[in-house]
Amino acid sequence: MHIARYRVKDVLMFDIVKDDRVTDLVGSIFDRPTETGNLRPLAEVELLAPVRPTKIVCVGQNYTGHIRELGAPVPEQPVIFLKPPSNLIGPGREIVYPAGAEQVDYEGELAVIIGQTMSRIPEDEALDYVLGYACFNDVTERDMAAKDLFLLTLAKDFDTFSCLGPWLAADLNPDDLNLRTLVNDRVRQEDSTARCVFSVPRILSFISRFMTLLPGDVVITGTPQGVGPLKPGDEVSVEIAGLGLLTNLVVG
Ligand code: MG
Repeated sequence: MHIARYRVKDVLMFDIVKDDRVTDLVGSIFDRPTETGNLRPLAEVELLAPVRPTKIVCVGQNYTGHIRELGAPVPEQPVIFLKPPSNLIGPGREIVYPAGAEQVDYEGELAVIIGQTMSRIPEDEALDYVLGYACFNDVTERDMAAKDLFLLTLAKDFDTFSCLGPWLAADLNPDDLNLRTLVNDRVRQEDSTARCVFSVPRILSFISRFMTLLPGDVVITGTPQGVGPLKPGDEVSVEIAGLGLLTNLVVG
């Protein structure tokens, strides 16, 4: 099941996406919404990021290839940082290249959308708290991030530096999903979530020991090797098997 959030005449709606159509939902997506049967063509709706999180929790250095390209040791426990919900944009929205930035990189990632309040949950129960999965682009000012660890937060928190969509998909096994990042239709990253150091249940359980995850919160699970720079005018897409294609344009 694919769930999208979109706007029609400034009214926010949730939908189930079926082929090239959407059908409106009534009720909370976190509590068994019902379908109205009111169908619209997908091409006529403005898709938004599928949820509005209270926080975006990020895992760094989680794919063996990316750890090698950073020249970093394999971490013994998940490396966690936060992005602000205010810099989240949806599919088709523009990534704004900050004035004076030296190098702005894409990072294609699998995002996990939390469905139920989650605090101190063991690994073997963690997936019960997941609503679904989506594509994410963890845009990063690499020059700042590489220069000083204390600049990592700012390097990732420029407005528009978090892209999520095009919708979320439930009932998916996150263990072995093919992930690709394309810039102007050229493949720049390609890997499987099977090559992550830490699994989704391990990551969620670990985070929930420290902070409560709320319905709609987003946990991103790290990027594969092949990170690289974007420039104004580039079109960047993250594609994950079963989750569709998240495309954003970079503007100067
Ligand atoms: Mg990242």
